[in-house]
Amino acid sequence: MTNSMRQSYLFTKTKKEAPSDEVSKNAEFLIRGGFVHKEMAGVYSYLPLGLRVLKKIENIIREEMNKVGGQEVLMSSFQPKDNWEKTGRWESMNDLYKVSDSSGREVALGPTHEEIVVPILKNYVTSYKDFPVSLYQIQNKFRMELRTKSGMLRGREFIMKDMYSFHTSEDDFHNFYNTMKETYKTIFKRVGIGHLTYMTFASGGTFSKFSHEFQTITPAGEDTIYVDEASSVSVNKEVLDDEVLSNLKLKKEELVEKRAIEVGNIFDLKIKYSEPFDLSFTDEKGKKHTVLMGCYGIGLSRLMGAVVEALADDRGIIWPESIAPFKVHLLALGDGEAVLKEANGIYENLSKSGIEVLFDDRVGISAGEKFADADLLGMPYRVVVSERSLKENGVEVKKRIKEKGEIISVDELLKILVP
Ligand code: ATP
Ligand code: MG
Repeated sequence: MTNSMRQSYLFTKTKKEAPSDEVSKNAEFLIRGGFVHKEMAGVYSYLPLGLRVLKKIENIIREEMNKVGGQEVLMSSFQPKDNWEKTGRWESMNDLYKVSDSSGREVALGPTHEEIVVPILKNYVTSYKDFPVSLYQIQNKFRMELRTKSGMLRGREFIMKDMYSFHTSEDDFHNFYNTMKETYKTIFKRVGIGHLTYMTFASGGTFSKFSHEFQTITPAGEDTIYVDEASSVSVNKEVLDDEVLSNLKLKKEELVEKRAIEVGNIFDLKIKYSEPFDLSFTDEKGKKHTVLMGCYGIGLSRLMGAVVEALADDRGIIWPESIAPFKVHLLALGDGEAVLKEANGIYENLSKSGIEVLFDDRVGISAGEKFADADLLGMPYRVVVSERSLKENGVEVKKRIKEKGEIISVDELLKILVP
């Protein structure tokens, strides 16, 4: 029963308006629905409904990271200045938050964790036998983003999964990198936006030819990508030139321009971060080499916002079943005793069958308001108990993505809902 909830008990309430400075659709719906609370530009707290979504995304990602052998860690947010000076990023990274205490000691507030993960690993791995290794974490990141007009898509404090992999050969790295491409496709599919998400060739920085971004199509996106719809190959505008087109065997006139948001990326880091910390291993012959690295990010909070942007309609959110806070929004309409009794019974019944139900048992709330809330909150199934449904000996069930519902028996309802 613990995974279901009565709406009368939920401390958050839906709101008619979002803060006036919030212009993005994702933040508007998420704030009005009581999923998140805005603290300041680019900073949000997660409330019960939002946290349920976040945890579901987190679990999907964690499962997939564990499948490829990732070991979960949780690294510190405070990061020693020395480490950042070693890589040169104390000066060069312009969105780095630098915090100092009253003694004048300065630390970085982690925007990413290469400067932490490499020294950690150096403590434990020395021989080729210790490799490969991949570590990941799911954690809050801090970046001094200048523009934060996109709600959850661009936070100053946001939640990221970052994985770092360590290898002794190019071959081993490439195998892992290719596995991660498939893992990322699986993750975005499981989260419900696979059909809108393209693996996209993007800038590899100064040290690699390309990186791969996972770009989800939405007008709210900040990137422009060019998609070859026949092959699903996609290229970020930032790197699109004649050489890239010919390398990838693409024809400019066959590409379609789309707006998209980067929900994840994978990067070949080579020795960029292992070298400054002298992270190395000895091979079979006792010869020393620098470790090869890759990194793999997904913005969980951005992903949550991207799902809202990409799938919502003008009435509210449409959650995919895999990450919806509840599978069913059960509405009792009117305050008649028979309706409440029947709805209560269905609530217990569904919950006992392992279905997550949000039960709108609130009294004195009009049918119109309950329907509007159900549309805003976006659970995949709306189940209504009313005088009318009682008369027809059933309940009205409607999918959030459909316009019309139908009256069916409770037995039939269970058949639809229980997998
Ligand atoms: P962007 O180009 O959008 O600024 P980035 O290249 O800086 O992204 P990374 O440093 O590679 O991003 O971070 C990994 C992932 O973290 C990104 O793919 C994205 O999903 C997420 N992310 C990055 N910056 C933010 C942010 N400010 N708010 C929310 N999520 C973010
Ligand atoms: Mg950035």
